[in-house]
Amino acid sequence: MVASSETIRLEVPNGSKAVLLKNLYLSIDPYLRMRMNREENYFPSFQPEQVIEGDGVSIVLDSGHPNFKAGDYVRGFVGWEEYSLLTNTFHTDMLSKIKYTDVPLSYYTGLLGMPGMTAYAGFHEICSPKKGEYVYVSAASGAVGQLVGQYAKLMGCYVVGSAGSNEKVHLLKTKFGLDAAFNYKEEPDLTAALKRYFPEGIDIYFENVGGEMLDAVLPNMRMNGRVAVCGMISQYNLQKPQGVHNLPCLITKCIRMQGFLVFQHRHLHEEFIETTRRYFKEGKIAYVEDVVEGLHNAPAALIGLFSGRNVGKQVVMVAHE
Ligand code: NDP
Repeated sequence: MVASSETIRLEVPNGSKAVLLKNLYLSIDPYLRMRMNREENYFPSFQPEQVIEGDGVSIVLDSGHPNFKAGDYVRGFVGWEEYSLLTNTFHTDMLSKIKYTDVPLSYYTGLLGMPGMTAYAGFHEICSPKKGEYVYVSAASGAVGQLVGQYAKLMGCYVVGSAGSNEKVHLLKTKFGLDAAFNYKEEPDLTAALKRYFPEGIDIYFENVGGEMLDAVLPNMRMNGRVAVCGMISQYNLQKPQGVHNLPCLITKCIRMQGFLVFQHRHLHEEFIETTRRYFKEGKIAYVEDVVEGLHNAPAALIGLFSGRNVGKQVVMVAHE
């Protein structure tokens, strides 16, 4: 970076393979909270004074890397900052050019980004769905949940979603076309509520929440049901995860319960982009995002995920395209 008294010129040092980005959108994701714990998860913990980083959409300003040139739109792993200089191969390997710019670029943080891919791989690979099956999705209006519910409808399943406000429940029933939806915060007995929505039981549970929700779901599962454990957001702020009491149902109902991480399913990425973009273009999939403007709003946006403040995929717009 070269500064003069009149202008600031941003450029990649000569001879390096670095990529200089102007960041446009940041993806605000629940897993970032886990990187704030001392114990490492599948990603290293953030260190004090380290710039927080996560998925984002950017434009290349300058590049010494053969795969990127100035003017390219890219998605990758960027800092919560206006400009990112990616100097190591970990970051440049994660960077990919955005092929289709006929959808809003912010969609590459959600519909066509990591959460979309999570929904696609999690539902199609982990849930082993079949037409006509009974599917339940928690946090169903969020980034991942809204797409799981719609993929399940496209598969011909009967789909019920839950969410934490009546506004979100309305979206689930109208915009996302689910068969039924309910506000879990208004249900004094979740087990009984699920019995009401699934009198014949649940074949597939797409787990985004954990804790009491999982406990309520297990007795409502059918024989040979599948639980895809995508996330357990209700647990991320707790010192110790809550106990789950109904695990013996896994035996008596022969349930397959499987956790997964999105980046283990890269082989599906091309298929995911092509299929989801086509569904969206054909009006078969709807998408809702919650965009707040300004980098300074990123911390509050992250905290808001844990009280359900976001309606749809939470995005922060750092700069106009
Ligand atoms: P969302 O857009 O769904 O936002 C989080 C939502 O979770 C909130 O809006 C809120 O919705 C709900 N929520 C927050 N706290 C609680 C709580 N205590 N109890 C119940 N619900 C709560 O986030 P994402 O779609 O990005 O992520 C959904 C899940 O998927 C998370 O658990 C995340 O960790 C996981 N994930 C896993 C990946 C993987 O590779 N396995 C990859 C990406 C995400 P509401 O108002 O409805 O309560």
